[in-house]
Amino acid sequence: MPQDKYDCIVIGAASAGLTAALYLARQSASTLVISKDIGGQALLTDDIENYPGYNQISGFELMNKFQQQAAAYGAKFVYDEVTEVRKLENGNFSVKIRDQEYISTALILAFGKTPRNLDVPGEETFRGRGVSYCAVCDGPLYKKVPIAVVGIGEHVLQAAVYLSGLASKLYVVYKGSRISQDDELYQQLKEKENVEFLINYSVEKIEGEMTVKTVSIKGNAKDSTDSRELKVEGLFIEMGYVARTEFVKDLVNLTKSSEIITDKLGLTSQEGVFAAGDVTDIPYKQAVISAGQGSAAALSAYNYIQKKLGKTAVKSDWKTVKVEAKPSQ
Ligand SMILES: Cc1cc2nc3c(=O)[nH]c(=O)nc-3n(C[C@H](O)[C@H](O)[C@H](O)COP(=O)(O)OP(=O)(O)OC[C@H]3O[C@@H](n4cnc5c(N)ncnc54)[C@H](O)[C@@H]3O)c2cc1C
Repeated sequence: MPQDKYDCIVIGAASAGLTAALYLARQSASTLVISKDIGGQALLTDDIENYPGYNQISGFELMNKFQQQAAAYGAKFVYDEVTEVRKLENGNFSVKIRDQEYISTALILAFGKTPRNLDVPGEETFRGRGVSYCAVCDGPLYKKVPIAVVGIGEHVLQAAVYLSGLASKLYVVYKGSRISQDDELYQQLKEKENVEFLINYSVEKIEGEMTVKTVSIKGNAKDSTDSRELKVEGLFIEMGYVARTEFVKDLVNLTKSSEIITDKLGLTSQEGVFAAGDVTDIPYKQAVISAGQGSAAALSAYNYIQKKLGKTAVKSDWKTVKVEAKPSQ
């Protein structure tokens, strides 16, 4: 199996991972970012209004800027899913994607959160062929056709508002038994002629041929025999997000909800492994927080690498002092 060796491998290329890569590359540490995509969850929104420096920017544009800045300093990128991570006997780390293995001195886990599955028959079969987890990304593929969206809470209502402007008919399969009548999004949706709410229902199975044709739903109420077959061409799943940390569970300590436990400098329970962003146990999940954690994890990782080489640690990213401060009079 071919192998490449880096000072640090960063898993995930969104706010946390791209910031970490920028900080590492600026210190001239050889850095490889391995990620399924560039941008992560930020790609799901056209409208970020709370990232400092921008009154309004789309997630795609912001993440593109992050990536270009990291790449300009020399970070390398591979686009794939990491399936296995191991600590080797010599203290290095092995990171595997398909039939390729990469080796690094330090490792930064910045792979965020991914959409929660429904876990019903047909979900895997029709993933990408009618089953989608991203209304903003895939909604435009379903213009003027009947579709359904399933989920609970604000996530599903937000997605429904967007999808109702595209679909000929939109079924909103709401898993909870009640929606607050005061909810603005709910009020907005109720006024739309092409929207039908199915409150307190769950999806039972998804069927079709090459693509989705039918979504079967069933009432959630106790002893309910209420069931329906929705003739739709797509199903959007909006069940929130989870940290998919299964592949690192033997490497680092996790919380009960599978988030990676870190300290304020991004250190995990495993020496040489650092973590940042939504995948960690920080309660606030925001782009700017992930970016800040990414920079801290990168500086910690860099210092770890330096220590291994018997060199001096850094305290900040200020590489060079360009202007000599004048001594005060
Ligand atoms: C609809 C929506 C709107 C939002 N709006 C805002 C907002 O306005 N302002 C704000 O500050 N925040 C917002 N957020 C939250 C913000 O997007 C997240 O806090 C931020 O994206 C987290 O960044 P991250 O780098 O920690 O992880 P993520 O964004 O989750 O990115 C994780 C990265 O890791 C990759 N990855 C995952 N698993 C693997 C694997 N096994 N192998 C390789 N790569 C992997 C993914 O492909 C992705 O690139 C929003 C989120 C959503 C969903």
